[in-house]
Amino acid sequence: MPRRLVILGSTGSIGTQALDVVQRAPDLSVVALSADGAWEELIGQAREHGVRRIALSDVDAAARAAEAWTGGDVLSGPDGLVRLITESNADLVLNAIVGSAGLVPTVAALGEGIDLALANKESLVVGGELVTQLAEATGATIIPVDSEHSALHQLLGSEPPGTVDRLILTASGGPFRGRSAAELQDVTVEQALAHPTWDMGGKITIDSATLMNKGLELIEAHHLFGTPYEQIDVVVHPQSIVHSLIQLCDGATLAHLGYPDMRVPIAYALHYPDRVDVPVARLDLAAVGSLTFEPVDEETFACLRLAREAARAAGTAPCTLNAANEVAVHAFLSGRLRFLEIASVIEETLESLPASTVHSFDSLAAADGQARRIASELVNARTTA
Ligand code: MG
Repeated sequence: MPRRLVILGSTGSIGTQALDVVQRAPDLSVVALSADGAWEELIGQAREHGVRRIALSDVDAAARAAEAWTGGDVLSGPDGLVRLITESNADLVLNAIVGSAGLVPTVAALGEGIDLALANKESLVVGGELVTQLAEATGATIIPVDSEHSALHQLLGSEPPGTVDRLILTASGGPFRGRSAAELQDVTVEQALAHPTWDMGGKITIDSATLMNKGLELIEAHHLFGTPYEQIDVVVHPQSIVHSLIQLCDGATLAHLGYPDMRVPIAYALHYPDRVDVPVARLDLAAVGSLTFEPVDEETFACLRLAREAARAAGTAPCTLNAANEVAVHAFLSGRLRFLEIASVIEETLESLPASTVHSFDSLAAADGQARRIASELVNARTTA
Protein backbone atom coordinates (compact mmCIF):
# COMPACT_ATOMS: atom_id res chain seq x y z
CA MET A 1 0.00 0.00 0.00
CA PRO A 2 1.45 3.41 -0.91
CA ARG A 3 1.88 5.92 1.89
CA ARG A 4 -1.05 8.38 1.84
CA LEU A 5 0.28 11.94 1.71
CA VAL A 6 -1.34 15.36 2.20
CA ILE A 7 0.65 18.37 0.93
CA LEU A 8 -0.20 21.75 2.49
CA GLY A 9 1.06 24.79 0.60
CA SER A 10 1.54 22.73 -2.55
CA THR A 11 1.84 25.69 -4.94
CA GLY A 12 4.84 27.18 -3.09
CA SER A 13 8.52 26.46 -3.58
CA ILE A 14 8.68 23.43 -1.24
CA GLY A 15 5.24 22.18 -2.37
CA THR A 16 6.11 22.09 -6.07
CA GLN A 17 9.45 20.39 -5.37
CA ALA A 18 7.64 17.85 -3.19
CA LEU A 19 5.27 17.03 -6.06
CA ASP A 20 8.36 16.53 -8.22
CA VAL A 21 9.69 14.03 -5.65
CA VAL A 22 6.29 12.29 -5.41
CA GLN A 23 6.09 11.94 -9.20
CA ARG A 24 9.06 9.52 -9.07
CA ALA A 25 7.90 7.65 -5.96
CA PRO A 26 5.42 4.81 -6.52
CA ASP A 27 5.32 4.26 -2.73
CA LEU A 28 3.71 7.69 -2.19
CA SER A 29 0.16 8.65 -3.10
CA VAL A 30 -1.04 12.27 -2.75
CA VAL A 31 -4.60 12.31 -1.41
CA ALA A 32 -5.11 16.04 -0.73
CA LEU A 33 -3.55 19.39 -1.57
CA SER A 34 -3.94 22.91 -0.20
CA ALA A 35 -2.93 26.43 -1.12
CA ASP A 36 -3.64 29.89 0.18
CA GLY A 37 -5.22 31.56 -2.87
CA ALA A 38 -3.58 30.17 -6.05
CA TRP A 39 -6.68 28.22 -7.07
CA GLU A 40 -5.95 27.76 -10.77
CA GLU A 41 -2.51 26.31 -10.11
CA LEU A 42 -3.92 24.11 -7.32
CA ILE A 43 -6.59 22.66 -9.63
CA GLY A 44 -3.86 22.01 -12.21
CA GLN A 45 -1.86 20.07 -9.62
CA ALA A 46 -4.94 18.12 -8.51
CA ARG A 47 -5.66 17.10 -12.12
CA GLU A 48 -2.07 16.13 -12.77
CA HIS A 49 -1.73 14.01 -9.63
CA GLY A 50 -5.23 12.53 -9.56
CA VAL A 51 -6.14 14.28 -6.29
CA ARG A 52 -9.86 14.52 -5.45
CA ARG A 53 -9.78 16.84 -2.46
CA ILE A 54 -8.29 20.33 -2.20
CA ALA A 55 -8.54 23.25 0.23
CA LEU A 56 -7.98 26.96 -0.25
CA SER A 57 -7.48 29.18 2.81
CA ASP A 58 -8.75 32.20 0.87
CA VAL A 59 -12.55 31.93 0.85
CA ASP A 60 -13.03 33.84 -2.43
CA ALA A 61 -10.42 31.71 -4.19
CA ALA A 62 -12.16 28.58 -2.87
CA ALA A 63 -15.50 29.77 -4.29
CA ARG A 64 -13.96 30.34 -7.72
CA ALA A 65 -12.23 26.94 -7.61
CA ALA A 66 -15.50 25.21 -6.69
CA GLU A 67 -17.13 26.81 -9.75
CA ALA A 68 -14.30 25.89 -12.10
CA TRP A 69 -13.51 22.34 -10.97
CA THR A 70 -15.89 19.40 -11.00
CA GLY A 71 -13.20 16.78 -10.38
CA GLY A 72 -13.61 16.65 -6.60
CA ASP A 73 -14.26 18.52 -3.32
CA VAL A 74 -13.09 22.07 -2.64
CA LEU A 75 -12.84 22.96 1.04
CA SER A 76 -12.68 26.57 2.11
CA GLY A 77 -11.08 28.76 4.78
CA PRO A 78 -9.18 27.77 7.94
CA ASP A 79 -11.83 25.20 8.97
CA GLY A 80 -11.68 23.64 5.52
CA LEU A 81 -7.93 23.24 5.86
CA VAL A 82 -8.35 21.44 9.19
CA ARG A 83 -11.04 19.16 7.71
CA LEU A 84 -8.78 18.39 4.74
CA ILE A 85 -6.28 16.96 7.26
CA THR A 86 -8.53 15.30 9.82
CA GLU A 87 -10.73 13.59 7.18
CA SER A 88 -7.81 12.52 4.96
CA ASN A 89 -6.97 9.18 6.60
CA ALA A 90 -3.38 10.16 5.71
CA ASP A 91 -0.15 8.52 6.87
CA LEU A 92 1.85 11.70 6.47
CA VAL A 93 1.18 15.44 6.17
CA LEU A 94 3.80 17.70 4.55
CA ASN A 95 3.28 21.17 6.00
CA ALA A 96 4.86 23.68 3.59
CA ILE A 97 2.70 26.66 4.57
CA VAL A 98 4.53 29.97 5.09
CA GLY A 99 4.43 31.64 8.50
CA SER A 100 2.51 31.11 11.73
CA ALA A 101 -0.57 30.23 9.66
CA GLY A 102 1.06 26.78 9.58
CA LEU A 103 0.55 26.18 13.31
CA VAL A 104 -3.16 25.24 13.22
CA PRO A 105 -2.69 22.56 10.52
CA THR A 106 0.37 21.22 12.38
CA VAL A 107 -1.77 20.83 15.50
CA ALA A 108 -4.57 19.22 13.44
CA ALA A 109 -2.21 16.61 11.97
CA LEU A 110 -0.39 15.78 15.20
CA GLY A 111 -3.67 15.73 17.13
CA GLU A 112 -4.86 12.96 14.80
CA GLY A 113 -1.59 11.09 15.36
CA ILE A 114 -0.55 11.67 11.74
CA ASP A 115 3.22 11.89 11.10
CA LEU A 116 4.37 15.33 10.04
CA ALA A 117 7.02 16.29 7.49
CA LEU A 118 7.62 19.82 8.73
CA ALA A 119 8.72 22.56 6.33
CA ASN A 120 6.86 25.17 8.39
CA LYS A 121 9.48 26.07 11.02
CA GLU A 122 7.11 28.66 12.52
CA SER A 123 4.99 25.79 13.93
CA LEU A 124 7.84 25.00 16.32
CA VAL A 125 9.01 28.58 16.81
CA VAL A 126 5.52 29.68 17.87
CA GLY A 127 4.08 26.45 19.27
CA GLY A 128 7.24 25.17 20.98
CA GLU A 129 6.66 22.63 23.73
CA LEU A 130 2.90 22.50 23.11
CA VAL A 131 3.60 21.06 19.66
CA THR A 132 6.27 18.57 20.73
CA GLN A 133 4.14 17.47 23.72
CA LEU A 134 1.16 16.92 21.43
CA ALA A 135 3.27 14.74 19.10
CA GLU A 136 4.48 12.75 22.08
CA ALA A 137 0.94 12.30 23.40
CA THR A 138 -0.46 10.97 20.11
CA GLY A 139 2.67 9.07 19.02
CA ALA A 140 3.09 11.12 15.84
CA THR A 141 6.60 11.70 14.49
CA ILE A 142 7.89 15.08 13.32
CA ILE A 143 10.45 14.80 10.52
CA PRO A 144 12.11 18.10 9.62
CA VAL A 145 12.29 19.27 6.00
CA ASP A 146 14.44 22.35 6.70
CA SER A 147 17.82 21.43 5.16
CA GLU A 148 19.87 22.13 8.31
CA HIS A 149 17.49 20.20 10.54
CA SER A 150 17.23 17.34 8.08
CA ALA A 151 21.04 17.18 8.22
CA LEU A 152 20.97 17.18 12.04
CA HIS A 153 18.21 14.54 12.08
CA GLN A 154 20.38 12.29 9.91
CA LEU A 155 23.55 12.97 11.91
CA LEU A 156 21.88 12.42 15.28
CA GLY A 157 20.06 9.31 14.15
CA SER A 158 22.58 6.74 15.28
CA GLU A 159 24.13 8.55 18.26
CA PRO A 160 23.26 7.22 21.72
CA PRO A 161 21.69 9.80 24.07
CA GLY A 162 24.18 11.87 26.06
CA THR A 163 26.98 11.69 23.50
CA VAL A 164 26.18 14.90 21.60
CA ASP A 165 27.86 18.05 22.95
CA ARG A 166 26.83 20.63 20.37
CA LEU A 167 24.71 21.22 17.29
CA ILE A 168 26.21 23.58 14.72
CA LEU A 169 23.84 25.20 12.22
CA THR A 170 25.42 26.56 9.06
CA ALA A 171 24.18 29.83 7.52
CA SER A 172 24.97 31.01 4.01
CA GLY A 173 25.10 34.58 5.29
CA GLY A 174 22.63 35.66 2.61
CA PRO A 175 23.20 38.26 -0.11
CA PHE A 176 24.54 40.90 2.32
CA ARG A 177 27.23 38.87 4.06
CA GLY A 178 30.23 40.99 5.02
CA ARG A 179 28.40 44.31 4.73
CA SER A 180 28.26 46.93 7.48
CA ALA A 181 25.02 48.46 8.77
CA ALA A 182 25.83 51.66 6.85
CA GLU A 183 26.06 49.64 3.64
CA LEU A 184 22.65 48.08 4.34
CA GLN A 185 20.91 51.43 4.75
CA ASP A 186 19.46 51.62 1.24
CA VAL A 187 19.35 48.04 -0.04
CA THR A 188 16.38 47.27 -2.27
CA VAL A 189 13.82 44.46 -2.22
CA GLU A 190 15.35 43.11 -5.43
CA GLN A 191 18.83 42.93 -3.87
CA ALA A 192 17.45 41.21 -0.76
CA LEU A 193 15.62 38.65 -2.91
CA ALA A 194 18.81 37.63 -4.76
CA HIS A 195 19.96 34.74 -2.55
CA PRO A 196 23.45 33.51 -3.47
CA THR A 197 22.91 29.75 -3.04
CA TRP A 198 19.28 28.74 -2.36
CA ASP A 199 16.27 29.34 -4.63
CA MET A 200 13.34 29.82 -2.23
CA GLY A 201 10.08 31.68 -1.65
CA GLY A 202 10.01 35.45 -0.94
CA LYS A 203 9.44 35.41 2.83
CA ILE A 204 12.23 32.96 3.64
CA THR A 205 14.62 34.68 1.23
CA ILE A 206 14.20 37.98 3.10
CA ASP A 207 14.57 36.07 6.39
CA SER A 208 17.86 34.69 5.02
CA ALA A 209 19.05 38.20 4.13
CA THR A 210 18.33 39.50 7.68
CA LEU A 211 19.54 36.21 9.28
CA MET A 212 16.17 35.94 11.05
CA ASN A 213 15.85 32.62 9.23
CA LYS A 214 18.80 31.32 11.25
CA GLY A 215 17.26 32.70 14.42
CA LEU A 216 14.02 30.84 13.72
CA GLU A 217 16.05 27.72 12.90
CA LEU A 218 17.86 27.97 16.23
CA ILE A 219 14.51 27.84 18.03
CA GLU A 220 13.31 25.09 15.70
CA ALA A 221 16.41 22.97 16.47
CA HIS A 222 15.95 23.46 20.22
CA HIS A 223 12.41 22.06 20.10
CA LEU A 224 13.05 19.33 17.53
CA PHE A 225 16.04 17.82 19.28
CA GLY A 226 15.52 18.99 22.88
CA THR A 227 18.95 20.66 22.86
CA PRO A 228 19.59 23.57 25.27
CA TYR A 229 20.26 26.89 23.50
CA GLU A 230 23.79 27.15 24.94
CA GLN A 231 24.65 23.99 23.00
CA ILE A 232 23.50 25.28 19.58
CA ASP A 233 25.94 27.38 17.55
CA VAL A 234 25.68 29.12 14.20
CA VAL A 235 28.58 29.44 11.75
CA VAL A 236 28.52 31.24 8.41
CA HIS A 237 29.39 29.01 5.46
CA PRO A 238 28.84 30.87 2.16
CA GLN A 239 28.96 27.82 -0.16
CA SER A 240 25.97 26.07 1.53
CA ILE A 241 27.59 22.66 0.99
CA VAL A 242 27.85 21.67 4.67
CA HIS A 243 24.22 21.66 5.84
CA SER A 244 24.99 21.29 9.56
CA LEU A 245 27.32 19.54 12.01
CA ILE A 246 27.25 17.79 15.37
CA GLN A 247 30.04 17.61 17.93
CA LEU A 248 30.35 14.48 20.05
CA CYS A 249 31.74 13.89 23.53
CA ASP A 250 34.85 12.09 22.19
CA GLY A 251 35.95 15.11 20.14
CA ALA A 252 34.58 13.90 16.81
CA THR A 253 32.65 16.35 14.62
CA LEU A 254 30.28 14.95 11.99
CA ALA A 255 29.02 16.97 9.03
CA HIS A 256 26.29 16.49 6.44
CA LEU A 257 27.24 17.63 2.92
CA GLY A 258 25.58 18.07 -0.45
CA TYR A 259 24.72 20.67 -3.06
CA PRO A 260 21.89 22.95 -1.96
CA ASP A 261 18.84 21.17 -3.39
CA MET A 262 15.65 20.94 -1.29
CA ARG A 263 14.56 17.76 -3.05
CA VAL A 264 17.09 15.87 -0.90
CA PRO A 265 15.62 16.80 2.52
CA ILE A 266 12.07 16.59 1.08
CA ALA A 267 12.66 13.04 -0.19
CA TYR A 268 14.29 12.09 3.14
CA ALA A 269 11.27 13.35 5.11
CA LEU A 270 8.67 11.78 2.80
CA HIS A 271 10.32 8.35 2.82
CA TYR A 272 11.74 8.24 6.34
CA PRO A 273 12.97 5.81 7.66
CA ASP A 274 13.67 4.46 4.17
CA ARG A 275 15.98 6.05 1.63
CA VAL A 276 15.27 6.21 -2.08
CA ASP A 277 17.14 7.30 -5.23
CA VAL A 278 16.90 11.04 -5.82
CA PRO A 279 18.12 12.30 -9.20
CA VAL A 280 20.27 15.21 -8.01
CA ALA A 281 23.87 16.09 -8.82
CA ARG A 282 26.38 14.11 -6.74
CA LEU A 283 28.78 16.23 -4.69
CA ASP A 284 32.15 16.76 -6.36
CA LEU A 285 34.38 18.32 -3.70
CA ALA A 286 37.31 18.80 -6.07
CA ALA A 287 35.02 20.84 -8.34
CA VAL A 288 33.74 22.87 -5.37
CA GLY A 289 37.38 23.54 -4.46
CA SER A 290 37.11 25.18 -1.07
CA LEU A 291 34.67 25.38 1.80
CA THR A 292 34.98 28.46 3.98
CA PHE A 293 33.57 29.38 7.38
CA GLU A 294 33.35 32.60 9.36
CA PRO A 295 31.68 33.90 12.53
CA VAL A 296 28.25 35.57 12.40
CA ASP A 297 28.09 39.36 12.64
CA GLU A 298 25.22 39.64 15.13
CA GLU A 299 25.73 43.36 15.55
CA THR A 300 24.93 44.16 11.92
CA PHE A 301 22.40 41.34 11.54
CA ALA A 302 20.44 42.12 14.70
CA CYS A 303 17.63 39.68 13.90
CA LEU A 304 19.71 36.69 14.98
CA ARG A 305 20.50 38.38 18.31
CA LEU A 306 16.80 39.22 18.77
CA ALA A 307 15.85 35.60 18.10
CA ARG A 308 18.40 34.40 20.69
CA GLU A 309 17.00 36.87 23.24
CA ALA A 310 13.39 35.83 22.53
CA ALA A 311 14.41 32.17 22.79
CA ARG A 312 15.99 32.81 26.19
CA ALA A 313 12.96 34.82 27.39
CA ALA A 314 10.75 31.88 26.24
CA GLY A 315 6.96 31.87 26.88
CA THR A 316 5.20 34.03 24.30
CA ALA A 317 8.43 35.82 23.23
CA PRO A 318 9.26 33.58 20.22
CA CYS A 319 5.64 33.92 19.07
CA THR A 320 5.89 37.73 19.35
CA LEU A 321 9.24 37.71 17.54
CA ASN A 322 7.81 35.67 14.69
CA ALA A 323 4.61 37.70 14.30
CA ALA A 324 6.49 41.02 14.30
CA ASN A 325 8.91 39.58 11.74
CA GLU A 326 6.09 38.47 9.45
CA VAL A 327 4.52 41.94 9.57
CA ALA A 328 7.88 43.69 9.05
CA VAL A 329 8.98 41.45 6.15
CA HIS A 330 5.61 41.91 4.46
CA ALA A 331 5.99 45.69 4.83
CA PHE A 332 9.53 45.56 3.44
CA LEU A 333 8.43 43.47 0.44
CA SER A 334 5.68 45.98 -0.32
CA GLY A 335 8.06 48.94 -0.09
CA ARG A 336 6.74 50.36 3.19
CA LEU A 337 9.76 49.62 5.37
CA ARG A 338 13.53 49.86 4.91
CA PHE A 339 15.69 46.78 5.30
CA LEU A 340 17.28 47.74 8.63
CA GLU A 341 13.89 48.78 10.02
CA ILE A 342 12.78 45.12 9.96
CA ALA A 343 14.95 44.48 13.04
CA SER A 344 13.88 47.77 14.69
CA VAL A 345 10.18 46.92 14.37
CA ILE A 346 10.79 43.46 15.85
CA GLU A 347 12.90 44.81 18.71
CA GLU A 348 10.34 47.49 19.63
CA THR A 349 7.48 44.99 19.45
CA LEU A 350 9.35 42.67 21.82
CA GLU A 351 10.04 45.60 24.16
CA SER A 352 6.39 46.58 24.36
CA LEU A 353 5.13 43.00 24.86
CA PRO A 354 7.06 41.29 27.67
CA ALA A 355 7.09 37.49 27.53
CA SER A 356 4.28 35.76 29.38
CA THR A 357 3.60 32.11 30.12
CA VAL A 358 1.96 30.02 27.40
CA HIS A 359 -1.05 28.14 28.74
CA SER A 360 -2.64 26.91 25.52
CA PHE A 361 -2.75 27.33 21.77
CA ASP A 362 -5.37 30.03 22.41
CA SER A 363 -2.91 32.13 24.40
CA LEU A 364 -0.49 31.84 21.48
CA ALA A 365 -3.13 33.02 19.03
CA ALA A 366 -3.81 36.02 21.30
CA ALA A 367 -0.09 36.83 21.58
CA ASP A 368 0.29 36.51 17.80
CA GLY A 369 -2.61 38.92 17.19
CA GLN A 370 -1.34 41.44 19.73
CA ALA A 371 2.18 41.38 18.26
CA ARG A 372 0.81 41.89 14.75
CA ARG A 373 -1.19 44.92 15.88
CA ILE A 374 1.80 46.55 17.59
CA ALA A 375 4.18 45.76 14.73
CA SER A 376 1.70 47.18 12.19
CA GLU A 377 1.43 50.39 14.20
CA LEU A 378 5.22 50.64 14.28
CA VAL A 379 5.36 50.12 10.50
CA ASN A 380 2.67 52.75 9.91
CA ALA A 381 4.44 55.28 12.16
CA ARG A 382 7.54 54.88 9.99
CA THR A 383 5.69 54.99 6.68
CA THR A 384 3.86 58.18 7.52
CA ALA A 385 6.82 59.84 9.26
MG1 MG B 1 17.05 26.13 6.45
